[in-house]
Amino acid sequence: MRTKEQYIEGLRKMRRNLYVNGHKIDRTDELQKPTLHTIGLTFDYAARPEYQDLCTATSHLTGERINRFTHIHHSKEDLHKKQDMTRALCQISGGCIQRCMGVDAANAIYNVSYEADRQNNGATEYHQNFVRWLERFQREDLVGCCAQTDVKGDRVKRPSQQRDPDMYLRVVERRSDGIVVRGAKVHNSEASVADEILVLPTRALLPEERDWAVAFAIPADWEGVKQVVSVHNLRQREHFPRGFAPAATDSYTIFEDALIPWERVFLCGETIHGGVCALLFALFHRHSYSGCKPAMGDLMLGTVSLAAEYNGIHKESHVRNKLAEIIQVAELGYAAGFTASELSGPEVYIPQMGICPYGPGSYIPNSIYSNVGRALTGEKVFREAEILCDVSGGMPATFPYEGDFLNPETKDLLYKYITRNPDIPPEDAAQLWRYVGDTLCSSSAGVHLFGAYHGGGSPIMEAIAMTTQYDIESRKKMVRRLAGIPERRHRPDPAAAKS
Ligand SMILES: Cc1cc2nc3c(=O)[nH]c(=O)nc-3n(C[C@H](O)[C@H](O)[C@H](O)COP(=O)(O)OP(=O)(O)OC[C@H]3O[C@@H](n4cnc5c(N)ncnc54)[C@H](O)[C@@H]3O)c2cc1C
Repeated sequence: MRTKEQYIEGLRKMRRNLYVNGHKIDRTDELQKPTLHTIGLTFDYAARPEYQDLCTATSHLTGERINRFTHIHHSKEDLHKKQDMTRALCQISGGCIQRCMGVDAANAIYNVSYEADRQNNGATEYHQNFVRWLERFQREDLVGCCAQTDVKGDRVKRPSQQRDPDMYLRVVERRSDGIVVRGAKVHNSEASVADEILVLPTRALLPEERDWAVAFAIPADWEGVKQVVSVHNLRQREHFPRGFAPAATDSYTIFEDALIPWERVFLCGETIHGGVCALLFALFHRHSYSGCKPAMGDLMLGTVSLAAEYNGIHKESHVRNKLAEIIQVAELGYAAGFTASELSGPEVYIPQMGICPYGPGSYIPNSIYSNVGRALTGEKVFREAEILCDVSGGMPATFPYEGDFLNPETKDLLYKYITRNPDIPPEDAAQLWRYVGDTLCSSSAGVHLFGAYHGGGSPIMEAIAMTTQYDIESRKKMVRRLAGIPERRHRPDPAAAKS
């Protein structure tokens, strides 16, 4: 396994294809540093003996110890540990730990490449290609990110119906040495600090949409690929630093007729498996949220409790109710993820076919529980922000600059007038209000809310997954029996009854 320093050294050597605000930058540019330190925690903690069980695993390919963020889950225990690792590392970083997209995409493609080969009766070698790629990914302890979300153009039109077919990334040429792809994937978190980008479809596809059924992996600086990056760093502090300052980046990853060699192609034209691949990444990713969202709940609970205490209102009953609300969401989200791991297995839901055995035997979390947990915790982020806003009062929004707490003309006055609970040193209160400002009033806070809400799919996608996969018919039957409504084969035609 690598150290954080070796990881950063690897990025330093990569081709410059990152564009930020009109400039081309290196991967180790100052702007990227806070994100590198955040993702760097996944290397630091894997090296700590007390975190080894949680943050490392044994490769099923080589038997070697690997970072759990490169592992293919082979048991319920593996999925439990991924959930717990994600919760622990997000608590430590104070935000997203950023490496789950790569492992979630790898787990999806591992299964899909196997099934596509089976469908092709050995005419393709996607799975073998992927296993070779995975072996290197694990051995070199690489960071992966996932490029799933297409720009999608006209939202109500399918890929093949778009006026511009490039609105969904597609294969424009099949050659003897590889495929040529064109399109743009957006909102790709941490692509600017990733070693490898895993690309897979956004949605279910029709049989005639073969060109859009494509999955592959490439180094993030690949020829023909440009990344336009937005960087989400917290406001810089000069005098009163935080304990840890998490950060993130998101890229528009643009493929300008990039040549992808066949050995890096894991799906090309198999539309059913393209749709399953989209669904499977979302499923693994929603399961990852059952680790990170409870961690966000833990941090929100701590922040609201401290805000209440520092405001001297911690014994008021309305505060107790709000704390209970945060605990409910965090732990129900965790419980849903736990149950999804318990009910996991080598099977997946395929539209029109129901739950089917799928893949070479790796473990896939239960879909209903992954989706209900993600939907609950994702949709509650704005409510939790509302609670923190309520309990904090206006202080975090208008808090004076650091320099005014140093200037002898204003320093003592400010510490006097920000004091609320006399038992709390005003210096501590100032640090908390700065922290709450970062959490709710900064531009990073807004991005975080959007990510927590839309990441892994907008709420409608979870609603679709739940309602199409849940056995609603059996519930209707239960109620018909209780209500005394007879079971009928065919509904009587009211018009025929009238005549
Ligand atoms: C911070 C952040 C990080 C992210 N990280 C990643 C990442 O690492 N990798 C990745 O691939 N993606 C990532 N995503 C993308 C995320 O999965 C998408 O934002 C999400 O799937 C929604 O897609 P969209 O943004 O295109 O929204 P839209 O599709 O534009 O949704 C806008 C609204 O339109 C509705 N809508 C869309 N289509 C239809 C339709 N056909 N009929 C009716 N209503 C419709 C939606 O329900 C929603 O209400 C990230 C997003 C964010 C915000």
